Amino acid sequence: MSSEDLRFDGKVAFVTGAARGQGRTHAVAFAERGADVVICDRCEDQAGVGYPLATDEDLAETVRQVEALGRRVISEKIDTRDRAGLEALVARAEKEFGSVDIAVANAGVSGMAPITDAPQAVWDDVVGSNLHGVFNTLAAVSPGMAKRGYGRIVTVSSMMGRSSSPGQAAYAASKWGVIGMTKSVSQDLAAVGVTVNAVAPGNIDTPMVKNQRLYDVVCPDIENPTWDDVAPRLQQLHAQPIAILDPFEVTRAVMFLADEGSAHMTGIVIPVDAGAAARTS
Ligand code: NAD
Repeated sequence: MSSEDLRFDGKVAFVTGAARGQGRTHAVAFAERGADVVICDRCEDQAGVGYPLATDEDLAETVRQVEALGRRVISEKIDTRDRAGLEALVARAEKEFGSVDIAVANAGVSGMAPITDAPQAVWDDVVGSNLHGVFNTLAAVSPGMAKRGYGRIVTVSSMMGRSSSPGQAAYAASKWGVIGMTKSVSQDLAAVGVTVNAVAPGNIDTPMVKNQRLYDVVCPDIENPTWDDVAPRLQQLHAQPIAILDPFEVTRAVMFLADEGSAHMTGIVIPVDAGAAARTS
């Protein structure tokens, strides 16, 4: 099935971390295919994250793109570490739009530090957003979906959720944790019409990868490294000869899992990683 065949008319899709990057691509793709959209983003930098996160303007741009497609959107500036904030947003969406049918727990950060020099803030921020934030999202949407007897939940892990790399203690722990959480919650919701699955992206072309902090970490031997220095090294993480993938490749997998027809696929992980998973699982 091509992604062009998928339709989400009458559905409400909630995407966290949707101000930019993969989250925006997911939100706009759902809107293009008929869904109304609920989005949030923290729109603030974090101490343990060495690159800028999204801005208020980024979140407003996602709203603009969804509205330009003629779809309704609820947008709030919320940090997914704030469970009460997420629960209030979901309650608002259920009141104004009638339901939340699809949830994509996408918000996440990357923070790298070797264990010999590991600031507490890196652990707290990475595990806070990538693990607590995903748990909070699942906890906010699940009661309504279970009550209505329908839901499609997609979490966002990573190729680091099934492998490891230097300096990734917090990130790998969080992304392995997302897979365990996804499989476990899929069992909680198996009897009530709600599927819970993960995607595991490789290197994706977003500001999480295209930033100077990552370039410096990947190329400590080069002064002021650029993307051209970084690309061949990142390509080594993939099996196919490509360094970085378009975010829409992940969106296609998210939409496939979010489709009504994917009713009996639950608790699985779809890698979108140019063959990296073939080396680990
Ligand atoms: P990105 O930095 O462009 O987007 C992440 C968005 O999430 C940003 O808008 C950021 O402000 C927001 N965010 C972060 N923490 C938040 C929080 N606690 N509450 C609310 N919003 C928050 O990066 P991306 O590549 O689009 O990342 C999306 C997801 O994909 C993340 O979970 C990331 O770990 C995962 N991922 C990315 C890659 C990659 O190569 N880019 C690879 C594997 C997995």
